[in-house]
Amino acid sequence: MNSKELEKIYCEQLGINKDIYKFGENILAGLEERFRAIDANAEYNQMKVISAMQKNKVAEMHLSGTSGYGYNDDGRDTLERVYADIFHTEDALVRPQLICGTHALNVALSSNLRPGDELLSPVGKPYDTMDEIIGIRPSKGSLAEYGVTYRQVDLLDDGSFDYDGIRAAINNKTKLVTIQRSKGYATRPTLSVERIGELISFIKNIKKDVICMVDNCYGEFVEPTEPSQAGADMIVGSLIKNPGGGLAPCGGYICGTKECVEQAAYRLSSPGLGKEVGATLGVNQSFYQGLFLSPTVVAGALKGAIFAANCYEKLGYKVIPNGTEPRHDIIQAVELKTPEGLIAFCKGIQAAAPVDSYVTPEPWAMPGYDADVIMAAGAFVQGSSIELSADGPLKAPYAAYFQGGLTWYHAKLGILMSMQKMKEAGIIGVHENDFMI
Ligand SMILES: *Cc1c(COP(=O)(O)O)cnc(C)c1O
Repeated sequence: MNSKELEKIYCEQLGINKDIYKFGENILAGLEERFRAIDANAEYNQMKVISAMQKNKVAEMHLSGTSGYGYNDDGRDTLERVYADIFHTEDALVRPQLICGTHALNVALSSNLRPGDELLSPVGKPYDTMDEIIGIRPSKGSLAEYGVTYRQVDLLDDGSFDYDGIRAAINNKTKLVTIQRSKGYATRPTLSVERIGELISFIKNIKKDVICMVDNCYGEFVEPTEPSQAGADMIVGSLIKNPGGGLAPCGGYICGTKECVEQAAYRLSSPGLGKEVGATLGVNQSFYQGLFLSPTVVAGALKGAIFAANCYEKLGYKVIPNGTEPRHDIIQAVELKTPEGLIAFCKGIQAAAPVDSYVTPEPWAMPGYDADVIMAAGAFVQGSSIELSADGPLKAPYAAYFQGGLTWYHAKLGILMSMQKMKEAGIIGVHENDFMI
C-alpha cells in the first residue's frame, strides 16, 4: 500500500480535509525520535509483564473464574502475584469488586486509617472525587465522619514541593500520606517517579513509619519504574485506565506491603474473610489479557498525547504538558480559549470513535461541578478513559482533557478529526505548512 492510499482513506472516506492531514504528517515527521523512545519503554514494560506471567506460571485454567464465595480462585490469586511482581510489592489486591479508581482509593484509605489518625496530602488538593472520601466536601461516610483529620500542603508556585511546609505539617497523628502522581484535572505538572521517590524519602526521614500511598491513576507503564519502586508503601489505580489495557470491563488494584494490602482486603470484603473470597465470574481472562496488552496500549495513548500537544501548540494554543516535555502520565490538556473551541474539539474526538461516532456530545450539568461539562467518548467499556476520550468544563480557559486511545492510529484519527471540527466551525484555518487561528 502506498501513501496515496493512506491519504485517500483519511480524506475521502473519513472526511479529514487534505490540508489538515498534511499538517498532521508534517508534525509527525518531527516526532520520530520521541516515538522511538516510547516504543523502547513499551518494549521494556512488555518484557516485565511477560516475565511476571511466566514466573508465576500463568496457565490456561487461570483464565476462567469462580462463582459464589470465590474460594480457591487460582486465576485471581495468581493474577495478584503477577501484579505484585510487576510493581515490586509484597502483595496485591486486584478485583472486579473494586468498582473504579475512587473506590479503590477509598478502600485503601479507610482500611489503613483509624479514628484519631491524620491524613496528609503534600502535593496540594487531590482529585475531585477524593473530596468526599476525605470530607473536604462534607459527605456521608467520609473519613472526617470517622474522626480522621486531614492536612494539605500545596505545591509552591513553581510546582516544587514545599519541604518546609511538609515538615511542619507532619505530627504525631500523621499516619498516611497520599501522593497523586497525575495532575488529574489540575494544571500542576504530573510527578515523575523520581520526584515521588524524593518526596517519599524526605517524608520517611521525618517519620519512618508513616504509610506513603500513591494514587497511580493514568501513570502505569508510562515510565520503566513505578512509584512502589521508589519507596511507596501502597499504589492504587483503576483497571478501566492503563493496566486494564482496554479489555478489563471494570475493576481496580491496590498493591503494596503485606500489611497495607491485608487491611484493604479485610475492608473490601469483611474482617475475617479478607483476600480469600470474591468470585471473579468471567473477568479473569480480560484482566490477564488487558494487563498483557497494557504497555503497548499506553504507548499508543502517549503518542496520541504528544501528537495532540504538538499540533495544538503549533496552532497557537497552550498545551499542558507542552510539545517537548517528558511525560509521566497519559493526560493531555489543551486550552481551547472559547466554549466553541472546546465543543468542536470534543465533537471531533466523538466523531472518530469506533462506537457511537454518530452521536453529538453536548455540554451538560454534572453533580459536583460548578460549570457544565462536555464529554466525548465512544468506548467499548462505559467511561473507560484508556480508550480515546476527552472532556472539559465549560469555563475559562476552556481546557479539554484528552487521553487514551487503544491504538495509536485511532488516537491520531481523533486528533485530526478534532482539528477538522475546529476548521468546520471556522475556529482555525489549517493549511499544509501554514496555519492561522
Ligand atoms: C481517574 C482518577 C481517579 C479515580 O477515578 P474513577 O473515575 O473513580 O476511576 C483518581 N485519581 C486520579 C488522579 C484519576 O485520574
